[in-house]
Amino acid sequence: MQNKRDDIDKIKALLSITEVAGALGIDVSRGKFRCLHPMRHANGDRTPSVSISEEKGLFTCWVCQDMRGDVIELVKQARSCSFTEALGWLQTEFMSEASMIKSPVLKKEDPQLTSPTLLKKPAIPDISPEERMKVVLSFLKRLSLVDGTPAANWLAKRRIFKPAWDKMRLRYISDYSALNSSLLAEFDLETLQKVGLYNDRGNLRYYKHLLIFPYLDENVRSLFFQARTTDPNVIPKELNLKGEIPYPYNKVLLDKKPGWVFLCEGVVDTLTLIARQMDAVGVPGVKSFKPEWVRLFEEKKVVLCFDQDNPGREASEYVQALFQKAGIYSVPLGHGIEDERFKMKEGQDINDWFNQR
Ligand SMILES: [Zn+2]
Repeated sequence: MQNKRDDIDKIKALLSITEVAGALGIDVSRGKFRCLHPMRHANGDRTPSVSISEEKGLFTCWVCQDMRGDVIELVKQARSCSFTEALGWLQTEFMSEASMIKSPVLKKEDPQLTSPTLLKKPAIPDISPEERMKVVLSFLKRLSLVDGTPAANWLAKRRIFKPAWDKMRLRYISDYSALNSSLLAEFDLETLQKVGLYNDRGNLRYYKHLLIFPYLDENVRSLFFQARTTDPNVIPKELNLKGEIPYPYNKVLLDKKPGWVFLCEGVVDTLTLIARQMDAVGVPGVKSFKPEWVRLFEEKKVVLCFDQDNPGREASEYVQALFQKAGIYSVPLGHGIEDERFKMKEGQDINDWFNQR
């Protein structure tokens, strides 16, 4: 399709690969980042092996043959998704309208201008953590409870019921327009954009992602959240608040007291276990477990509940190696189960596995 071809060319030509990496939660420093396959590297790739060429819009790992490509490939690898999903994600995150791109991520404003200094992203002063927290908390305060909203049915179908909604303080955007204008009345647009809540068109980003999963900390505050669509036709399914993911979902369980915790991928899987009174914490995606988080798990024994597919198994091995190094016991879910009926089948995810019984 010509349109799609045009979109692809436009994305490659106009988006800054560094900026896209940032939106994927990848920490880029001086044009380098840690490989998304850290287990193939010494020390979990502590000294980053992946280089970014902002000018060419490409990334390359010096070790992994398959860890290289353009901005779309980067999204595919980081989100373990298909080409179409990667394209959809980039469009949702960065493209204003189908044919109009107007955003600070532009790497060049005019194709005529190719001086290297113009290819760098404009220096936008960062927002202070205090200011950011204030805005995020104010956003969350304005949201509705899940009860009685379309998200309630959606969650119930996954056997995640009210006690879990309340415990994890799930929220819903029931009136998008009112929320959009009430935030703009309190904060200036630039601030809202810096926090990552608003897009370059000046609108709240969560038009189709109305179900909000706050990442609570030990003081039951949330400095981070994930927004989820309940519409099966919307791609991507989840949008993270931009910026670094500060800690795992349901971090409050990581209290340095002896006990077991289940480590899941994605908030929905984590909630599936929480709804069954299980002590579960979550990472947004299989690639997003950060080595720094290992120390949060001190004194715990960890059951790794990643999906039974290649990215899931790879993540499981990687995280297990990190825990082992830190002297923390971990084991993949289902390890030692001999009965075929209870084993996770190829491609099965945790929500399906738990709900089949
Ligand atoms: Zn690599």
